[in-house]
Amino acid sequence: MKVVVIGAGFAGLCVGALLKQAGFADLTLIERGDGVGGVWRENRYPGAACDVPTPLYSYSFEHGHAWSAAYAPQSEMLRYLQHCARKYGLEQHLRCGVRATHARYDGEEARWTVQCSNGEAVQCDVLIPAVGIFNTPVVPGFAHAQSFEGVAFHSAQWRDDVDLRGRRVAVIGSGASAVQIVPALAGIAARVDVVQRSPLYVMPRKPVDMGAMASERERLFREFDEVANRRKSTEGAQAAQQAFADHLERTVRDPDLRSALTPGFLFGCKRTLFSDEWYPALQKPNVRPIFAHVERLTPTGIAFTDGTSAEVDAIVYATGFDPARYLPGLEVEASGTTLRDTWRQGARAHLGISVAGFPNLFFMYGPNTNVAGSVVHMHECQARYIVQCLQAMAASGATAMEVRSDVMERSCDRIQQRLAVSVMDGAHCSSYAMDAAGRVVVQYPGSQSDYERETAQVDLGEFLMR
Ligand SMILES: Cc1cc2nc3c(=O)[nH]c(=O)nc-3n(C[C@H](O)[C@H](O)[C@H](O)COP(=O)(O)OP(=O)(O)OC[C@H]3O[C@@H](n4cnc5c(N)ncnc54)[C@H](O)[C@@H]3O)c2cc1C
Repeated sequence: MKVVVIGAGFAGLCVGALLKQAGFADLTLIERGDGVGGVWRENRYPGAACDVPTPLYSYSFEHGHAWSAAYAPQSEMLRYLQHCARKYGLEQHLRCGVRATHARYDGEEARWTVQCSNGEAVQCDVLIPAVGIFNTPVVPGFAHAQSFEGVAFHSAQWRDDVDLRGRRVAVIGSGASAVQIVPALAGIAARVDVVQRSPLYVMPRKPVDMGAMASERERLFREFDEVANRRKSTEGAQAAQQAFADHLERTVRDPDLRSALTPGFLFGCKRTLFSDEWYPALQKPNVRPIFAHVERLTPTGIAFTDGTSAEVDAIVYATGFDPARYLPGLEVEASGTTLRDTWRQGARAHLGISVAGFPNLFFMYGPNTNVAGSVVHMHECQARYIVQCLQAMAASGATAMEVRSDVMERSCDRIQQRLAVSVMDGAHCSSYAMDAAGRVVVQYPGSQSDYERETAQVDLGEFLMR
């Protein structure tokens, strides 16, 4: 069976490694970047590090790694993934610097043809998009943005050629990237203006005993499961909210700042962040939290709607990504339709992995599989499930495997029902997990354990095998 995986981040390498181990060696990994690593290759901003501890945020089949820190910095995460690509024999299957632009399934032949940016067409029996969801940078379209005469860039497109030491910098945003960038910049810049539209819940980092990695993995897994379980009900969220209020009281002296930093939505609705440096950084003399709304950019900085302004030399857009827009730049076509059309009402897939009408197509990190915990655990569940699917095809001699549409509809409806009674529902807040229509298409409603249970065993009765 010839398998093509698109993307060589945590997900692509995971499914590649497990497929190879299972004997599926006719494998090609198409990667548009110049190497493996995905978000850990792209996000090189100062302070970039994982916020789920590495004993958990790493592969279970490669977990004895000698991490230098519990929250490893970007360079180390990238080295880890490069090491895994080497160790699991994936380098020889890699095609870097090639973007997959279009994939079409031929029902007669039961084969996919993947069109690439270099003009090449790659054929395969099974296609696995592992293209990630946090890699389409979003930059707000501020009025007069072109008039700004300083330098401006997105956090995922860090300009190594720009020296921010001693400069006046505005960081726009208060999400996961800003929480890491601001403390790092506060140590070198003359001034950091932190422009925040809607503050998030930022909790202290979980302490980790790096001397007992295997048991720490278990313990952290359970702890993050509890975080996810709290999101299932308003009562759970309210208890966590009190813990946050106590933490803020301990770390931020000024009551006005505390009030401005208190999110206006229920705990758990949006992603909870973990940092020990964010609140201390915001109280440094050279750091200015700004809660006013941006009206426009000027040649020398930012004008706010309340009439105030900030004069800066550089603007860093820590404004995140657009995870609800699945597969940007990749057209997928089968059974006379496209995924874009099929997903017009929002992206959906059975267990986040398979879509009715699209045989021999299996997603890594597909719709509704982002979790409060380690995404790598979700990748492993998906990869094991996909390996089982391919083994079932090989064993039965089937050339095509497609999830039944009634199965997909039922399981996706159940996901939405579970989300509707959780704090992630749109009634509590709007978040990047939603598509334009307000449907939560990114977040999984349960815990890492729930997903592991749901994906542990492929039910072949849910599929059409031909
Ligand atoms: C800064 C940052 C920190 C994070 N920290 C954590 C954390 O601590 N814990 C956690 O659980 N999650 C974290 N995440 C979420 C993260 O997205 C996942 O953990 C995980 O790394 C995703 O891996 P992936 O392989 O699915 O996606 P990616 O890492 O995005 O990899 C996808 C790959 O596909 C390639 N690609 C995309 N489209 C194409 C195409 N058309 N053709 C060819 N190649 C293509 C991309 O170039 C990329 O290399 C973080 C995300 C970011 C951005």
